[in-house]
Amino acid sequence: MLANRIRRILLEEGARDYPMARRILARLPAVPVEVIQDREALNTSGRDRAAWLALAKTTLLLAVQKGPFWRDCPGTKDYICCGYQVLQVGLNCPMDCTYCVLQGYVNVPAITVFVNVEDLLEELEARWTENPALVWRLGTGEFGDSLALDSLMGLNELLIPRFTGRGRAILEIKSKWPQLEHLLSLGPNRQVIFAWSLNPAEIIPGEEKFAASLESRLKAAAQAVAAGFRVAFHFDPMIYFPGWEEAYRRTVERLGAAVPSQAIAWISLGGLRFLPPLRQLILQRFPKSRIAAQEMVLAPDGKLRYFKSLRVEMYARMREWLTQATPEALLYLCMESPRVWQEAFGFTPDGESLSRLLDGRVLPPR
Ligand code: SF4
Repeated sequence: MLANRIRRILLEEGARDYPMARRILARLPAVPVEVIQDREALNTSGRDRAAWLALAKTTLLLAVQKGPFWRDCPGTKDYICCGYQVLQVGLNCPMDCTYCVLQGYVNVPAITVFVNVEDLLEELEARWTENPALVWRLGTGEFGDSLALDSLMGLNELLIPRFTGRGRAILEIKSKWPQLEHLLSLGPNRQVIFAWSLNPAEIIPGEEKFAASLESRLKAAAQAVAAGFRVAFHFDPMIYFPGWEEAYRRTVERLGAAVPSQAIAWISLGGLRFLPPLRQLILQRFPKSRIAAQEMVLAPDGKLRYFKSLRVEMYARMREWLTQATPEALLYLCMESPRVWQEAFGFTPDGESLSRLLDGRVLPPR
């Protein structure tokens, strides 16, 4: 259980009376707790990022979200964006992927959990009341992992029922963790999608530390389908390494054998990408990682990416294999340029039409 990795809890003074904070503290009775006034006091400036990031993975911060929970997905200018919306229920997670972009983003030496879930639910109601006809594709896995600490937090048990009968809202619970038994009795629910990030079994132990095996992720997906949920998969980031073709082809075959294609809402593909300063941090934290070894170029969005020709080749091959193994799933590219779409998929949607394609896959026509 990932919660066993937690060695220390920081409790914001203002968070201590929330039911979620009390629940988490009760479930980790042996973990020392330090009460702090405010997380702003946990200043990391001037400290060695690589050193405090490692400690952050075993420290839990129970805090109050003072801003909105609901945010636009941080899409990228000039790249086609799918109109996703993010519920920021926390920041960081207890797994430790070499490529995790949060390493360059977090500024608190902990895994933050926002415990004021009552405010989140209120915010959801207010947004829905304001715009009941709009389609919302919402996810909780953009700034962390939606299942990794769920047995402690109990968040999904509160969120899933809110989406029942909520005409045009979809919740995507995105993870690299397989523990969802406590949520299966909440199905069937066609508006909730359990999604797993996938990479070949060869990649997971070295690049996705503490994450579940490919086999357990696929087994969890089959359990979700059996309980009446839809599922999705994200091959993101796709990582190049010698032998990638065979490894990704076999992974796609395993996916096709594990999950019925009609239960898959969508599958996204995205090549490895990150801001340049992350490269040094990856080398420092994970000297054996394969990901900093491959040549990358600075793309117009300021991120390092594989050469366009390699990205096109990887996406086109994946499309070929996925079309065979999961013929009914909708495939899309995450944050890619129009030229790459054209060359790999043979067409170029704009953001609006990509959103409509994804919405149409899960919602009945009006
Ligand atoms: S599971 Fe996601 S949030 Fe957690 S370390 Fe890996 S990439 Fe980062």
